Amino acid sequence: MAALAPDALGPTVCVGEILVEIVATTIGDGFRAAQPLTGPYPSGAPAIFIDQCGRMGGAAAMVGAVGRDDFGAVNLDRLRADGVDVSAIAEDADYPTGSAFVRYRTDGSRDFVYNIATSAAARFGLSDAVRALIDRAGHLHVMGTALSMPAARTVIEFAAPRIKAQGGSISVDPNLRKELARDAETEALFAQLIAQSDLLLPSGEELERAAGVSGQDAAIARLFEMGVTEIALKQGAAGATVFTPGADPVHHSGFKVEERDPTGAGDCFGGAYVACRRLGLPIADALRYGNAAGARNVTVLGPMEGAGTRAELDAFIAAQEGST
Ligand code: ATP
Ligand code: MG
Repeated sequence: MAALAPDALGPTVCVGEILVEIVATTIGDGFRAAQPLTGPYPSGAPAIFIDQCGRMGGAAAMVGAVGRDDFGAVNLDRLRADGVDVSAIAEDADYPTGSAFVRYRTDGSRDFVYNIATSAAARFGLSDAVRALIDRAGHLHVMGTALSMPAARTVIEFAAPRIKAQGGSISVDPNLRKELARDAETEALFAQLIAQSDLLLPSGEELERAAGVSGQDAAIARLFEMGVTEIALKQGAAGATVFTPGADPVHHSGFKVEERDPTGAGDCFGGAYVACRRLGLPIADALRYGNAAGARNVTVLGPMEGAGTRAELDAFIAAQEGST
């Protein structure tokens, strides 16, 4: 039984923040002195996910908002070029496009200066364009980070039951950022979405948090009881493992790459994996493409600069397999 609705049913929809990211070119502590920067790069976890989904060849559409400025154009141009339907992205005439300045510290952690909640990124809702998109959608991908944004929460709560009712499917990337504390209401919505989801894409301790029980095996068993039919557990440089009820787990080890910018790995893995599964590829093949998408993206500076087309990922895989 296929876990996800076929691509032909309608696009995969992702809802949430669209930003530009501006990255410090040196490693160090924050932004309290003038320094060299690079960017603007198109970004936002939901946008990275949907861009990789589109590049892979999956039907893809984004719900969110940008300002009527160059940073907005950076995002709209990229998404359009990569085959993403941008008809439900609002253009805000009064607020600027969201932004994040990022600098890596020597220990690999990051300092951020964000402008999201007070930017166009947070200002969208159930417009006619959004409702029209939801009516013809085949799949909803929920990014955990977006749940802390009231606009995204409204759209996701509206879309999830409708897309399910029209034969579509749901995937959830818990993406629990320690920086983003969540209130009880957000936690309740998160739990409700997990219970409605067909595919879960956690990493690290997100698996147990999503299940609400400790221990990997117990967490997986609990999620299957809740109705999840596929779990793709992301394991960083070690690759990823897919669990389905009543079958052996399928593991694919990580590709060996030099990591230049880890941002976006999980989102690219998810975008490629969901697109492949909806296009009818078996789990093992979707997993290989997901791993390749995540690994390729970390070799390039900029959050979605390394997202690959199917041909680029095939070339990446061939080069990797030839070198081992
Ligand atoms: P993010 O930090 O973007 O939220 P995540 O925690 O959701 O990421 P990761 O497990 O870090 O997800 O990365 C997703 C996938 O990308 C991994 O399963 C793996 O296939 C690939 N990947 C990530 N980092 C590396 C790496 N250093 N080398 C090879 N592959 C990697
Ligand atoms: Mg993640």
